[in-house]
Amino acid sequence: MSNAINLKDHIRGIADFPKPGILFYDISPLLAHAEAWKEAVNQLAEAIRPHKPDLLVGIESRGFLIAAPLALVLGTGFIMVRKHGKLPGDKVAHSYDLEYGTDTIEVQADAVKPGQRIVVLDDLLATGGTMAAAIKLLRQVGGDVRAAAFLVELTFLSGREKLDVPSVSLTAYD
Ligand code: 5GP
Repeated sequence: MSNAINLKDHIRGIADFPKPGILFYDISPLLAHAEAWKEAVNQLAEAIRPHKPDLLVGIESRGFLIAAPLALVLGTGFIMVRKHGKLPGDKVAHSYDLEYGTDTIEVQADAVKPGQRIVVLDDLLATGGTMAAAIKLLRQVGGDVRAAAFLVELTFLSGREKLDVPSVSLTAYD
């Protein structure tokens, strides 16, 4: 039996955002649709469960929206990887290259206990730079990163080739 909900019906492309020439995949309609959002969370839960995570990590900011409900469904903890300067207390940072310049992400130094099994969530996989950086950061603090998961993958950018863990995505655009 085919599923009545097609997640792609709830993801829209918005031209020229944030810059001219960029087609931005907006997940707001998916979040706003109770049944479609529940379906997306349930599909991710089933894909992630075999990795037996202790912790789910959300990457700022849309990754938080995905990882937090999933952590409740799977009965795991939830922690945040944030941009520089957003987290209080002792932090560990990791800087990575962008097309122009660099970016820095951080996690609280005591957020991960050594060897905890982690699955990292973000809304979208494009070049893979953000997720690859988050995985490095989480390993720096002792995490055992088992998988990465996304709502959307832009396959033409080959981002999953930058990831050395299994990668799950619910929808793909090429
Ligand atoms: P990457 O580092 O893989 O090139 O870019 C992925 C990051 O940029 C993710 O954190 C994601 O939220 C954001 N991003 C890039 N393009 C899009 C897009 O078209 N739609 C959404 N929702 N996020 C995007």
